[in-house]
Amino acid sequence: MPASVRRARRLRVHGIVQGVGFRPFVYRLARRHGLAGWVRNAGDGVHIHVEGPEDALRRFEDALRREAPPAAEVSRVEAADAEVAPHEAFEIRESRRAGSPTTRISPDLSVCPECLREMRDPADRRFRYPYLNCTNCGPRYSIITALPYDRPHTTMRAWPMCAACVAEYHDPLDRRFHAQPTACPDCGPHYALREDDAEVARGFEALTRAVSLLREGKIVAVKGLGGYHLACDARNAEAVAALRARKFRKEKPFALMTPDLDAARRFARITPAHAGLLTSVARPIVLLPRRNDPGAELPEAVAPGNPELGVMLPYTPIHALLFDLGAPVPLVMTSANRSSEPIAFRDDDALARLSGLADAFLTGERPIARRIDDSVVRVTGGGAMLLRRARGYAPGVVARLSAERPILAVGADLKNTVTLVVGGEAFMSPYVGDLEHYDVQTAFEQTIRDLTAMYAVPLDEALVVHDAHPHYHTTRLAEALPGEHVAVQHHRAHVASVLAERGAADVTVIGFAFDGTGYGDDGVIWGGEVFAGSLRDGFMRAAHLREALLPGGDAAARTPVQAAAGFLHAVPGLPDLTAPPFRFPDRFRTALRMIEKNLRVFPTTSMGRLFDTVAALLGFTRTMSFEGQAAVWLEHLARSAPPAAPYPFPGLDYRPLLRAVLDDRLRGRPAHEIARAFHASVAHEIARLGARLAAEHDARALVLSGGVFQNALLLEALPRFLAGVNANLPVWVNRRVPANDGGVSLGQAALAAYGASLR
Ligand code: ZN
Ligand code: ZN
Ligand code: FE
Repeated sequence: MPASVRRARRLRVHGIVQGVGFRPFVYRLARRHGLAGWVRNAGDGVHIHVEGPEDALRRFEDALRREAPPAAEVSRVEAADAEVAPHEAFEIRESRRAGSPTTRISPDLSVCPECLREMRDPADRRFRYPYLNCTNCGPRYSIITALPYDRPHTTMRAWPMCAACVAEYHDPLDRRFHAQPTACPDCGPHYALREDDAEVARGFEALTRAVSLLREGKIVAVKGLGGYHLACDARNAEAVAALRARKFRKEKPFALMTPDLDAARRFARITPAHAGLLTSVARPIVLLPRRNDPGAELPEAVAPGNPELGVMLPYTPIHALLFDLGAPVPLVMTSANRSSEPIAFRDDDALARLSGLADAFLTGERPIARRIDDSVVRVTGGGAMLLRRARGYAPGVVARLSAERPILAVGADLKNTVTLVVGGEAFMSPYVGDLEHYDVQTAFEQTIRDLTAMYAVPLDEALVVHDAHPHYHTTRLAEALPGEHVAVQHHRAHVASVLAERGAADVTVIGFAFDGTGYGDDGVIWGGEVFAGSLRDGFMRAAHLREALLPGGDAAARTPVQAAAGFLHAVPGLPDLTAPPFRFPDRFRTALRMIEKNLRVFPTTSMGRLFDTVAALLGFTRTMSFEGQAAVWLEHLARSAPPAAPYPFPGLDYRPLLRAVLDDRLRGRPAHEIARAFHASVAHEIARLGARLAAEHDARALVLSGGVFQNALLLEALPRFLAGVNANLPVWVNRRVPANDGGVSLGQAALAAYGASLR
């Protein structure tokens, strides 16, 4: 090749490009295109120098994005012409340590097909080894103890590699080139089985023994990637009932694991969208419509009264091995804790906290540096919606945000997450949990330390953003941090989270923030809020659910009939709701009396409580055993009915709406039809009110956020009603972060970044 046509290019690749096999990929790609030069890790990503014929360079740059390894996430490639060196060949150069580590930390990756093949090959040296991994798969975030991401900075530091592993580690053409957590049966950690406080088996024997216990209907605590699961045979009613009793978990559905998609299909109806999520690298729990044909039955206790099943596929080799060795299908795989305590992840803690809960412990030697729960995803009309964003997704980037200085947004008290803005990007922590638990407060503080340390942000230089609620734990803990503080109103943060995801800073929108509870500007418990504005200009309250009176505060959030009293006392000519068909318990009368006497009564605009009220009127008159239960019940009830016309709900005044529900119920209209009509009413009023406000404020889109919008039926009903009012408005919802309070930290960060945290 004549030297005259030889060109050189210098590329900087940004995103998740370290610890995911990116350099070997570049190496192979350059060799395939006959290019010379080098690749190396740098503080801000991966740097590449390539030389060769122009068209080969072009094809190389093209393939760089298109063929990137599955776990890589290329956010940006900067490319420029460079001087021809010249180079003889292509090589992988040693990392150069730059100033601040802006390289992203990869989320944990599910085990890849190549590793599974080796694990199942009797001739392979990693045959049946539960800790195998490679640059395309394995633990990342859950094992990192410090940066940069190198083996000594992971929980694998205690296991020096054997000669064979070292050779792979240094071979650029090997799948394990620089695979930091790589290990084999000769040099790596192993699993052991403990029963009655003693180790009874190690290695392969521990696995076969665990499988026999599962087949006998026992409950086994299994150490996974980010913590322990409690596993049992999901088809064994006694085992499932025992698990519920020991876990103090009354009705909240258990997650299931099946060995593969086909096995999952036996119990649930799976669309291509579901299948894509189930088999994605993140391997979340996916909520699936369950089948009820013969052969698909599972004990009622798996997911009591729930037409959906939460299913995940094996994501770490130990899971796949258990099924290979004959574990029951499906397995219940629920996070190992009691009730809503945080998931256990340290061995000593697990053995102590779970004793009496598990019959045996399958413990692995590799320590977990930080706990991380399974993610939960639901498919709604327009795509995937995250209900819990944790393993497989966190701590990835959720938005691009520019700010003059780092921002630390500490989120809300329930379903807490933390967001850090640095270097133009917003990183969201995994789901931390509900801060009423002391252990979760500790995890919250640990998460802040981790996130700021990973991205080298000194805490006293960060702007700390917290909720406007003066009594939130997050507010109190944020105020104890150094640096400047700013408060952001809860529901504005919900709306802002959607706009931040989309990078829509200047678009004026009408934002609906519907949820259970949040502290309002006026000290009232808000939750049915409509705003007009933009990220840059802030949001003014343009409408809200008519105020109701909530008797008894927090208890009303667990007891639909108590919330119902607060909404129904304002409805004239109320029938006796303790009589059929309503059959409200006495608690309802007590609550009404509290309102009459104005005793422990709090004003609220909570849409969540309106959903609870309607659920109560349609038959959910008991106390909820988990958050959101009545609303989920109501959605499922409605889904079993054909589409229905909406009730009047003018300007979010619930009185005519509830009157109509009462009348229909007294008239004997089936409850599922009423539930359907109620959903239509909410969707219809969002469309009507949204269209009117959009015209008034010259808004270009409707934004929906807050826990209420986890309701797929509501979202599905909306387009028809928007068409009905001739409103050509796009509807934007959360896709990268949860619509529930798990997304609040992103919205807080966004409003602080734009200085628009209007109160
Ligand atoms: Zn692999
Ligand atoms: Zn080895
Ligand atoms: Fe909320």
